[in-house]
Amino acid sequence: MRLLLMGPPGAGKGTQAVDLATSIGGAHISTGDMFRENLANETDLGKLAKQYMDAGQYVPDEVTNGMVRNRLAEPDAAAFVLDGYPRTADQVVELDDILASLGAKLDGVISLVVEDREELVQRMIKRAETSGRADDTEEVIRHRQDVYDAETAALVPLYRDHGILHEVDGIGTIDEVAARIAAVVDSLRG
Ligand code: ADP
Repeated sequence: MRLLLMGPPGAGKGTQAVDLATSIGGAHISTGDMFRENLANETDLGKLAKQYMDAGQYVPDEVTNGMVRNRLAEPDAAAFVLDGYPRTADQVVELDDILASLGAKLDGVISLVVEDREELVQRMIKRAETSGRADDTEEVIRHRQDVYDAETAALVPLYRDHGILHEVDGIGTIDEVAARIAAVVDSLRG
């Protein structure tokens, strides 16, 4: 199964994506994690991404798209949960192209819905106590919400139009949200 997990920063994507990938037997592919790994290993890609990430901005599409194209061509990516990609309209087009070139398509898009911006910001401020992420200051956290609203929120109706969107309430405990996601996956299995 090939799934996208979408949602604003702080909605709990990363947490849920790991468990979801295990449950479908697929790879968890997080562009944020991939950039952070490159940063930790001080690769050229990491150095380039850092300036954008630290400011809460998106890494340019040319860079991100190439990274995802390579990752999705790896043998373990026959089934996957994609987390944090696509984030722009151009990335949506690119992803369709990547998948078409692999003879594959998405089975579903799960959107974690948390309407309350303050709830998101407070969750992330709490996470900042332990994350050690340079982009987890309150100012950058708020900026990341703005960037999400400006660039990424519009992808949700786009996938609704494609008929593959499944919205899941992202308010509740981790287990409650996981159970809602599992119900969607069951419905996709048919
Ligand atoms: P969050 O926890 O805010 O959802 P992620 O861990 O997914 O963030 O990503 C962290 C940062 O990595 C983003 O703020 C951005 O700079 C960069 N990034 C991740 N995915 C993408 C993408 N698809 N396009 C551009 N930049 C990305």
